[in-house]
Amino acid sequence: MNKFIGLVAATFLAGFFFGIPVFSDDATGAGDSVQSWASPPGTRVVLVIHGGCGVIPRSEMTQEMEKAHLDVLEAALRAGYAALQKPDASCQDGVVEAVKVLEDSPLFNAGKGAVFTREGKNELDASIMDGRTKSAGAVASVTTIKNPITAARLVMQKSGHVLMVGDGADQYAKTMGIEIVDPSYFGTDYRLKQHKRGLKEIELEELRNRNGSDGADLNSAPAPDNAPGIRRKTQDVVGTVGAVALDRAGNIAAGTSTGGLNNKRHGRVGDAPIIGAGNYAENESCAVSSTGDGEFFLRAVAAHEISSLVKYKGLSIARASSQVMKQIKDDGGDGAVIVLTRNGQAAMTYNTEGMYRGYITSDGSPHAFIYSGQAP
Ligand code: ASP
Repeated sequence: MNKFIGLVAATFLAGFFFGIPVFSDDATGAGDSVQSWASPPGTRVVLVIHGGCGVIPRSEMTQEMEKAHLDVLEAALRAGYAALQKPDASCQDGVVEAVKVLEDSPLFNAGKGAVFTREGKNELDASIMDGRTKSAGAVASVTTIKNPITAARLVMQKSGHVLMVGDGADQYAKTMGIEIVDPSYFGTDYRLKQHKRGLKEIELEELRNRNGSDGADLNSAPAPDNAPGIRRKTQDVVGTVGAVALDRAGNIAAGTSTGGLNNKRHGRVGDAPIIGAGNYAENESCAVSSTGDGEFFLRAVAAHEISSLVKYKGLSIARASSQVMKQIKDDGGDGAVIVLTRNGQAAMTYNTEGMYRGYITSDGSPHAFIYSGQAP
């Protein structure tokens, strides 16, 4: 026991004097993985990112694929960090620049590399929230915006609205000079295969559920979380992306961007663009970006719930996020969140095998991880 206390004290002192984040594996008892830390006093900036919790199972991960994912995560951390270093940089800049790198990579389910709808199209969702002003912006079901996170920020800053959807959002972004691409830009062979494989499963499930009845019989319809195509299938390797950032002025922001769930219905909107569900930021509590089975995060109002547990119940972000992830698990959902406070405390919490994730602090060296037990 004394040895343990000594180790904790030594780790803390090392962090204090050398600027190394102090990590702890909070024993929340919730059966999930929490990697959390308190940044040392004087830390100027912190950026934490995720690339989703639908990771390639460890047994199937090749060295090349692992490296490719880690390289992109590190590139995103560097881009966000560089943005946060600029004079007058805000936490929003760090979030947007990091998320853009992840959106541009075909490896993650956001921007290029987004999953397909049942109809074989890509419909993208994104949101951003600023913890100081509590202003927020989001786009949903957009099909031509190269970097949906930039459109979310545009909606927040210029539109006078919080959420814009579909063609209206695409048109507005175009008018305002945001980069537009042909819808075919987003598709990749990998996602196409995932789409086709999933379609077969949906057809089979629908056949099984139809039981010879025509039309929609709402009384005998399966519960929402069992309906075909609504739940994420475990073999769906997806990677919604997100970032939470602390700037030198002591403000925090959160951003989330996704292609949604593989083979979602046309028009389905998940948690990512819904403020309070997939994204939330408030200087007085914390910034949160989530990933996972969106329907569960929507019903749990997950990001806001974590913020409220911190704000009103005084829970640590590790405990608050662990409690909400456990609730989502108990409800039947998989998921993960990254959380950051304006004091530089951070947590990366997931109830899955792993989570593409990483952080960077004042020393500017990126740290990226995929599976549990990979804390530095
Ligand atoms: N949360 C996203 C959605 O439901 C998907 C994900 O994070 O993998 O749209």
